[in-house]
Amino acid sequence: MTPEDREIQERTRRFVDDALIPWEVHAEEHEGRIPSETHEAHVAKARELGLASMNMPTELGGGGFTMLQQVLVSEQIGRVTNALGWCVHTPPAWAPSVCTPEQLERWIVPAVRGERHECYAITEEGAGSDVDAIESTATRDGDEYVLRGTKMHVTSYNTADWIFFQAKLAGGDHEGEHALFFVDKDTPGVRLIGEPRYSHTYPDTHALLAFDDVRVPTSHLVGAEGDGMSFTHEWFRYERLMIAARCCGAMERLIDQATAFAKERVQFGQPIIEFQAIGHMLADSLIDLWASRLMTYELARGIDAGIDVKIQHAQCSMAKLHASEAAGRVADRAVQIFGGRGYMRENVAERFYRELRVDRIWEGTSEIQRNIVADQLAKRGARHLLGEESGA
Ligand SMILES: Cc1cc2nc3c(=O)[nH]c(=O)nc-3n(C[C@H](O)[C@H](O)[C@H](O)COP(=O)(O)OP(=O)(O)OC[C@H]3O[C@@H](n4cnc5c(N)ncnc54)[C@H](O)[C@@H]3O)c2cc1C
Repeated sequence: MTPEDREIQERTRRFVDDALIPWEVHAEEHEGRIPSETHEAHVAKARELGLASMNMPTELGGGGFTMLQQVLVSEQIGRVTNALGWCVHTPPAWAPSVCTPEQLERWIVPAVRGERHECYAITEEGAGSDVDAIESTATRDGDEYVLRGTKMHVTSYNTADWIFFQAKLAGGDHEGEHALFFVDKDTPGVRLIGEPRYSHTYPDTHALLAFDDVRVPTSHLVGAEGDGMSFTHEWFRYERLMIAARCCGAMERLIDQATAFAKERVQFGQPIIEFQAIGHMLADSLIDLWASRLMTYELARGIDAGIDVKIQHAQCSMAKLHASEAAGRVADRAVQIFGGRGYMRENVAERFYRELRVDRIWEGTSEIQRNIVADQLAKRGARHLLGEESGA
C-alpha cells in the first residue's frame, strides 16, 4: 500500500469507529433508524472526508479512487452494522461512459453530489438467479417507451429518487433483448405494492413494485437497445468485490471483539481463551479473514493493473464467494464464543450473524458464483483464471 492508501484506510477507520459504531445499538432498537440530523451529519462527514462517490471520476466531482482504495474504504465500512455505512454512497461507476450528457446532468451528476439517489429494479418473482427470465417489457410507442412489469427486493426504494428498471424489449429490431431505463420515482404508473421486512434491521427498505404502463421518453434508455445486461454485469462485478471487502471488515471486527471477550470472560477459574476449543475458533476465524483479504486486495490490484475483464468476472465471483462464506463462519463462531450474550441484539455478533447472511444471496448466490467459476474454468483453465498467463 502507498502512504496515500494507508491514509485513506485510517481516515475511514476513524470515521467508522468515532461516528458510526456508537449508533449501532440505537439503530437496532429503532427499526434501523437514527435521528435524521445524525444521519445527515454522517453523510456530510463522509463527503468532507472525500469518501462520497469515491468510485466516480474526478471530472464529475467524484473521488477517482483506485480500486484498491475503494476496497480499503469498503472494508472499513463493513466493520459497522445496521447499514450505518451506507452514508458513503457510490453511484453507478459504469454510467459516465454510456450516459448521454442530458442523463449525466439529470441523474448521475446529482448522484455524485449526493443530491439524488438511485435504486435497481431487476429481480422479479419468476426471475432471480436467472435474470434472463424477466417478464417486464418495454414497448416503443413513438418518442416513448411503455414499461410494464412487477419487481421485487428493490433495495433503498424508500430513499431513492429514481429507479434503474430492466426490461425485455417487446417488438422492434431488438425484440426479447434487455434494456435499462431511468425511471423517476414519481412517474405515473410506478406503484409501491409493499415493503416486507427482512432479517436485518436496516433503515432502507426492499420494495415490491409495479410498473403499470409507465411512459418514459426514449431519452431515458441507457445506452442502446439490447445493452441492458452488460451494465448489470459490470455492476455485479463491482458489487461482488465490494461485498468481499465489506465481509473482510466484518470479520476483523468480529475477531477483535470475540478475542477481547474471550480474554476477559472467566469460567472454571480461567479466561475462556485458554480453552483450546475457543482458541481454535478464533484461529480458524483469523485464517478465514487473512485468506479473504489476500484475495480481495489482490483482485483490486489486478483490476487497477487492467487485467482481462473475463478474469475479473471469475475472480470477483471467487472473492465474493470465499469472503461471504468465510464471514458467515466467523459470525457463527463469534456468537458461540459470546455464549448467551452472542444471542442478544445489543451484541455485534448477533447483528452480524443476521446481516452477513444476505451476502451469500444478493448480487448472485453462492451457487451462481460457483457456476460462473466452473464455467470460466472449463473455458479458460486454472492458470489463466489465476492470472498467471495474463502478466497480472
Ligand atoms: C436483501 C435483498 C436485497 C436485494 N436487493 C435487490 C435490488 O436492489 N435489486 C434487485 O434487482 N434485486 C435485489 N435482490 C435480489 C437478489 O439479487 C436475488 O435474491 C438473488 O439474485 C437470488 O434470486 P432469488 O432470490 O430469486 O433466488 P432463486 O434464483 O430462486 O434461487 C433459489 C435457490 O436456488 C439456487 N439456484 C438457482 N439457480 C441455480 C443454478 N443454476 N444452479 C444451482 N443453484 C441454483 C439458488 O442459489 C438459491 O439457493 C435482493 C435480495 C435480497 C435478499
